[in-house]
Amino acid sequence: MALINCKECGKQMSDTAISCPNCGAKNKNNNEGATTGLKVICFLIPLIGIIIFAINITTRPKYAKACLIASILPTIILALIVLFIYTSTSVIVSDGIFTQY
Ligand SMILES: [Zn+2]
Repeated sequence: MALINCKECGKQMSDTAISCPNCGAKNKNNNEGATTGLKVICFLIPLIGIIIFAINITTRPKYAKACLIASILPTIILALIVLFIYTSTSVIVSDGIFTQY
């Protein structure tokens, strides 16, 4: 936690504050989402995204959630693929026909 200068009124405020306590201007540093590069890293290595989420959830919720979503996305895609394969296989088995495509 550090003190930064408000971009609107120039007074000092915490970098973890959502808005300036003096003028009410939003703290852009805190409201920034994750960069595309970081999302790609999270996408490729989900564990990093989850760690970033755990560290930043209280201080930078938007940033943390963006990383978490990017991390979970490949897992959801993988789950859908597995579900699709499983469903297809089940249909073949229930038909009692051993078909090789
Ligand atoms: Zn201010």
